[in-house]
Amino acid sequence: MRPRARARVAAAVPCFELARLGRRPGQAALHAHVPPHLVRFRNLPPTPVSTLERNRQIAMEAGLEYVYIGNVPGHEGERTYCPRCKKLLIFRQGYSIGEVHIAKGKCKFCGKPIAGIWA
Ligand SMILES: [Zn+2]
Repeated sequence: MRPRARARVAAAVPCFELARLGRRPGQAALHAHVPPHLVRFRNLPPTPVSTLERNRQIAMEAGLEYVYIGNVPGHEGERTYCPRCKKLLIFRQGYSIGEVHIAKGKCKFCGKPIAGIWA
């Protein structure tokens, strides 16, 4: 990841998540397969959904392939999309999983390997 893109991701991804990686936000070296979760703060005042969406977009434009939005029921950011063909791979709503379009660790539509351990 380019330094400028890395800095934009550091601004977009909550610091406590980066802290789990054992690095300071400006020094984080995120691999494209690291799936950050932008979780909505639900106490007063709640995080605007538009803020989460903007940060998700920034992180994805910087090269992260799987960026999720949490605590926004029904939001498309709960789902997994293929980084190559952009088709829906896993439909999630809360803790429920519906459609899954991954076979043998690859996108069923274009064959791109999808990071993770799949049963
Ligand atoms: Zn695909």
